[in-house]
Amino acid sequence: MIESPLLKNILGYINGDWADSEDGRRIAVRNPVNGEVLAEIPNMGSKETVRAIEAARAALATPASLQQRADWLNAIATALLDNRREIGRILTLEHGKPWKEGQGEVEYAAGFFSYAGAHVEELAPRELAEKARGCTWTVHYRPAGVVGLVTPWNFPAGMIAKKLSAAIAADCGSVIKPSSKTPLTMIALFSLLHDVVGMPPGRVNLVMGSAGPIGDALLQHPDVRVVSFTGSTEVGKELIRGAADQVKKLTLELGGNAPFIVFEDADLDAAADNLMANKFRGGGQTCVCANRILVHERVADAFADRLKERVDRLKVGDGMDADTDIGPLIDRNGFEKVRRHAQDALDKGAQLVTGRVPAPLDSDWGAFFPPIVLKGATPDMACWNEETFGPLVPLVSFDSEPQAIELANETEFGLASYLFTADEERARRVIARLEFAHVGHNTGSGPTPEAPFGGMKQSGYGREGGLEGLFEFIEPQTVPRGA
Ligand code: NAP
Repeated sequence: MIESPLLKNILGYINGDWADSEDGRRIAVRNPVNGEVLAEIPNMGSKETVRAIEAARAALATPASLQQRADWLNAIATALLDNRREIGRILTLEHGKPWKEGQGEVEYAAGFFSYAGAHVEELAPRELAEKARGCTWTVHYRPAGVVGLVTPWNFPAGMIAKKLSAAIAADCGSVIKPSSKTPLTMIALFSLLHDVVGMPPGRVNLVMGSAGPIGDALLQHPDVRVVSFTGSTEVGKELIRGAADQVKKLTLELGGNAPFIVFEDADLDAAADNLMANKFRGGGQTCVCANRILVHERVADAFADRLKERVDRLKVGDGMDADTDIGPLIDRNGFEKVRRHAQDALDKGAQLVTGRVPAPLDSDWGAFFPPIVLKGATPDMACWNEETFGPLVPLVSFDSEPQAIELANETEFGLASYLFTADEERARRVIARLEFAHVGHNTGSGPTPEAPFGGMKQSGYGREGGLEGLFEFIEPQTVPRGA
């Protein structure tokens, strides 16, 4: 069992108090390295969620000033940074990602709170320059109300930071549901909100456990005005259907299928270094990980050589070990998906550059997948069409700029993409035609608190981060005033 000063209460949090499930049912949270039970969390459902929604609704009766919101946001950022080591440790234990990445994720999360704290003034009422219809017009940025925030397991600190920072900036009350696979980081965050930041009762609430009933309660309760969800496209589509009855606003950050294009004039070493940092972060389990690597045929072999050299140095192991580059995949299902993609590609004619397809797991845990690079991938392969979410690198050759663009856009997803070229003109042309909301140009960098991030096409809608993200939980209200 995990011991931590930030996990004195392994419980939900409703109306300013730690809260258990009403029927006392529990779910085990396990270390993906070995299946060790780290903790047992309450298995909550619709009843607890309704209580949390009502508490959030009641808290909104006392609006917070912009200054108060900035103070809370800055205090959360500071508390996260002050506790980076311990939260990062909890995160690595429940997710499996390397220690350094866990610590880095806590810093990344703090960045969203400090960015929102520094920019909350953008939500002050503004007067329009025009005196349209002979009136003076004021635009007020009202809080949407109670918001439901549902997060995935792959960034247990980062994903909630994006949502909660914007919700607090907008003066909304939140009901938060983390993934059942990685809820402990969230509980640790709540212990800081309670003990250090001193958020008033009802402003932030935490439920966990049965995803279906919790999701239904958020969609069906009329006081919930926005549900912000990050996770699979499959669940996102269920939420869209469920939101129809009450015309509920959704913000959806869904799956990706990122192309990583290397043109013949690119700096191949820089492209390979960036691909390594991008692709193997979180063991390949991020929505912005390159999924399809498109390389111009003239440099395909030279690029594959550079990649092999780098991949062969990676060490797979327990994230708590200092020299680990890639931790275990989150579970057996994740492992089987990567295995299926690799085997399918080889069966359909791809060739091994380095790595191997491991045997099926004989346990639910310890899903250590050795990184594998394949060349000769084609659009009929599963790894081309689905998000692999693991350390498989399929290389695809192209022979012209139009073909690269066509191949890159050949997906229903539109989240992240990357291109490497030394030609500025070409970059401008290609970027304008890529149907992705994030295009890394000579960089594999993903999102940052300062910039809006989200998806096109079936990767979702809405934005997180940047000024655009601050407005996701806002209802603008216009007030024309006659003379
Ligand atoms: P998931 O299975 O869709 O789960 C995401 C969250 O939704 C979890 O908290 C889950 O709870 C909950 N959930 C499941 N069914 C639900 C329902 N019917 N109603 C309401 N909530 C429900 O996704 P995941 O496997 O955790 O995350 C991986 C996916 O997230 C990948 O596709 C990845 O690309 C995507 N992702 C996207 C972004 C982005 O910014 N676009 C960022 C990160 C990840 P339980 O865990 O308790 O089942």
